[in-house]
Amino acid sequence: MRAVAPGRVNLIGDHTDYTGGLVFPMAIDRFTTIEFERSHEPLIRLRSHDEPNEAIVQLPSSGEGRGWARYIAAVARECDSKNGITGEISTTIPIGSGLSSSAALEVATLLALGFTGSASELAQTARRAEHRATGVPTGIMDQLCIASAREGHAMLIDCASLAIEHVALPPETRVIVQFIANRTLEGSQYSQRVQQCAVAENLIGALRLANPESLEKINDPTIRARARHVITENQRVREFLRALRQNDLHGAGRLMKQSHESLAVDYEVSTSVMNEAVAKLQKTPGVFGARMTGGGFGGCVVALCESGAKVDGWRVSAARAAHLA
Ligand code: ADP
Ligand code: MG
Repeated sequence: MRAVAPGRVNLIGDHTDYTGGLVFPMAIDRFTTIEFERSHEPLIRLRSHDEPNEAIVQLPSSGEGRGWARYIAAVARECDSKNGITGEISTTIPIGSGLSSSAALEVATLLALGFTGSASELAQTARRAEHRATGVPTGIMDQLCIASAREGHAMLIDCASLAIEHVALPPETRVIVQFIANRTLEGSQYSQRVQQCAVAENLIGALRLANPESLEKINDPTIRARARHVITENQRVREFLRALRQNDLHGAGRLMKQSHESLAVDYEVSTSVMNEAVAKLQKTPGVFGARMTGGGFGGCVVALCESGAKVDGWRVSAARAAHLA
């Protein structure tokens, strides 16, 4: 059997998911595939083409493992897997570059282990596994996108209610991804940003419900800037959806540009190399807009372009959700 899970790229709405805000990702046509056989032995044995060591997890899983095996152990623990599998993993998602190879691995492993819940339960279980494996309190965007995507569509996700709206991308557009640098969120300032949002929420309430005027109640300039990013980013996601619906692609592109500036200046999760790549893309003919994508501190940038535009990078298409094949 085979479990297949796509990667994802986020078009707009970064660092909004963990405060229950809005995000607008799409699954991409790069995949992690597990070719596997189920067994009645309480043992998981997986090889990955990208790792020298096999992941071996005795069931029931303690949830702990070394290197990449910690993701497998965490997934097995979260779904309380009883029956083992033996298999081989390959991926066309570049690992550690912000296109969510980790969530694809978690979701594909859950499917291979026979997870039978809804897409939302699949995503929440995978997210808990990611927290267990990495200790980084990431939001639900990656796993929910990968578990629920529809071919040809991006998706608006409300990360509070987990409601999803699938949105067809205008046929005259292309999405281009440029790889900038490998990164890991472990040891990055990601967790600090999550804490800073919690501080802001203690002062002004839920950021997803707050309006820009309430920022005046935050005295600390750093916390105020972090909150400003989240509040304005949620607003930009709403406006982005509206712009796409009206086929106002230049408007959508301007929102991507503003999103990048907010992530770079107010949220301080971009890098100079990413800023340069985005600036260059924004000057390229046929590019509506560009921004960093994902958690930041490296990773990738994404551009929304005219279909005929000559832009360096990977052209990605909106892929369907993870599935067994
Ligand atoms: P991203 O999710 O952006 O690609 P992360 O740092 O979150 O980057 O996750 C990358 C980690 O996930 C890798 O270091 C590895 O431990 C694990 N991983 C992802 N895909 C695979 C794979 N195909 N085989 C083995 N490990 C993988
Ligand atoms: Mg990841």
